[in-house]
Amino acid sequence: MLRITNAHKLSIARSIDRGTTEQQCVVREILAAVKESGDKAVRAFTQKYDGVTIEKIRVTEEEYLAAKAHVPIEVQSALQEAADNIRAYHQHQSRTSWFMTRESGTMLGQMIRPLQSVGLYVPGGSASYPSSVLMNAIPAQVAGVEKIVMVTPPDREGKIAPAVIVAAEIAGVTEIYKVGGAQAIGALTYGTQTIPAVDKIVGPGNIYVALAKREVFGVVSIDMIAGPSEIVVLADETASPSYIAADLLSQAEHDPLASAILITTSQKVAEEVALEIERQIMNLPRKKIAEASLRSHGAICVVADLEEGFAVVNRLAPEHLELLVEDAHSYIGKIKNAGAVFLGPYSSEPVGDYFAGPNHVLPTNGTARFSSPLSVDDFIKKMSVISYSKADLVEHGEKIMRLAETEGLTAHAKAIQVRLASVSDKS
Ligand code: NAD
Repeated sequence: MLRITNAHKLSIARSIDRGTTEQQCVVREILAAVKESGDKAVRAFTQKYDGVTIEKIRVTEEEYLAAKAHVPIEVQSALQEAADNIRAYHQHQSRTSWFMTRESGTMLGQMIRPLQSVGLYVPGGSASYPSSVLMNAIPAQVAGVEKIVMVTPPDREGKIAPAVIVAAEIAGVTEIYKVGGAQAIGALTYGTQTIPAVDKIVGPGNIYVALAKREVFGVVSIDMIAGPSEIVVLADETASPSYIAADLLSQAEHDPLASAILITTSQKVAEEVALEIERQIMNLPRKKIAEASLRSHGAICVVADLEEGFAVVNRLAPEHLELLVEDAHSYIGKIKNAGAVFLGPYSSEPVGDYFAGPNHVLPTNGTARFSSPLSVDDFIKKMSVISYSKADLVEHGEKIMRLAETEGLTAHAKAIQVRLASVSDKS
């Protein structure tokens, strides 16, 4: 099932799904209707696409209590502990404002401010993603965002997954609304009678959600548009084939488009992993998805040495990279492109997906060449501050005027000139 291939044939970057023209039209119509009619349109589309009539769009206090009663206590405490780890990790990313003063009296600086409000999309459908709630909401909370608004589609009974509600409460989400798809993105962008407009929308979703986020970008900010999940394992002869197979399958079970790739210096490990996968996949409930993923986007590649292995890794720029080699820490300097790096046999990728603390929202599709995991930085903005002194304006005013005149912006030059003139009149 998992083909053994040459290094130069490996690739994980795929063209991003931009939807069909029909899907784009549907999304534009939904957004326009929500902008025009607010809650009325939200209710109508929820009826049409989720098959349920929603009276109260906002999740009530009773629903919070029912969710808490429904989620097993050990799941609640695991979510709480994961949230504590995620919060502690992201607190290291916090930035502070800074100012510098010159002897001339000029002060320059950069002020950090959190976004005032953020919308978090949590996918509905058959699965529920409480870990996605934690990973998207906690960095916003650490950044100091006051309003964290969550939207998620209701099921056919008008309910949302209890674990998602519990995770939202733990992560500091301030309000939850039962709406999904493009109508949720429209509501967060334009606001409705019930749902507030926000400054930025984050979180994964299906093609309608992704297209709607692209459409509204500019009116609001958005996060990255995530592609299918990816894992690359770089292993030497010391790695355990059963660990490698299990970790490759943990990504392959996500999605038929997910890609799971082993790069190894050992022919023996390559062959044993191929057999292990055949063995382990038999018992997986999501066997069909994993098989489809491995068949079309999985590969095993034997390289001459780790040097070649790292060259392939850096070309692929995978979302997740596991280094299962002897003394993995000593190779960290070789990694140039990856979303998240997992070192050694006990750093299995699900440790990072759920619990360790770093964010699991990572660049996919080779974009780790130029972008980074979701972080506190995604929820702040920076403002520059200039407090120029009279002495500096007198000293540098002429130069500023010259630059303005070079660009043909006479009024800019005059704004300086008027000050230089009044300063010299007084002296
Ligand atoms: P979803 O919440 O993304 O979408 C459900 C909504 O889609 C519905 O409420 C409906 O409004 C809309 N919709 C469905 N059919 C429509 C149609 N024909 N026309 C217009 N709107 C329509 O839930 P989902 O569909 O289960 O998809 C979840 C997605 O999230 C998957 O693609 C999954 O891979 C992705 N996901 C990604 C990550 C990640 O970290 N990258 C994590 C979890 C989920």
